[in-house]
Amino acid sequence: MKCTACHCSYRHIPPAPVLFDGTWRRLAHKRENLCWNCFMSRMEERGLPPITLADLRPCPFNHERTGYFDFFKRNASPELIETWLRWLGNATEQDRLWQAEQDRHYQEWKRRTNYQEALI
Ligand SMILES: [Zn+2]
Repeated sequence: MKCTACHCSYRHIPPAPVLFDGTWRRLAHKRENLCWNCFMSRMEERGLPPITLADLRPCPFNHERTGYFDFFKRNASPELIETWLRWLGNATEQDRLWQAEQDRHYQEWKRRTNYQEALI
C-alpha cells in the first residue's frame, strides 16, 4: 500500500489515521490512502478544524497498530474515551464474528470439495 498523494510506501512516514467517512470525505476521496504528512497538509490546505478522537474510527488500526488513540485521547473527554472504547469493543467483536463466519464457510467448502472428490 502506498500514499496516493506522494506515493511513499509508509516505511518512514506512518499512514494517516482511519477516520469516519464523513470526516475523511472532507479531505480525501474514499479510495485515497494518505500518509501522515499528506494528511496534515490537506487539512491545512482545506482549512479543516483539527481532528479529534470523535473523528477517529474505533478500530484496531487506530487503537493498537498505530497508537493514534493514545495520541488523540490526550485532548478528549473521559465520556468520549469511554464511548470510543465501547465502540472499539463492538467493532472487535464484529470482526471476530466475521472471521469465525469466514472460517465456517471455508470449512464447509472444504468438506464439500472433499466429498465431491470422494465421489469421483
Ligand atoms: Zn503522502
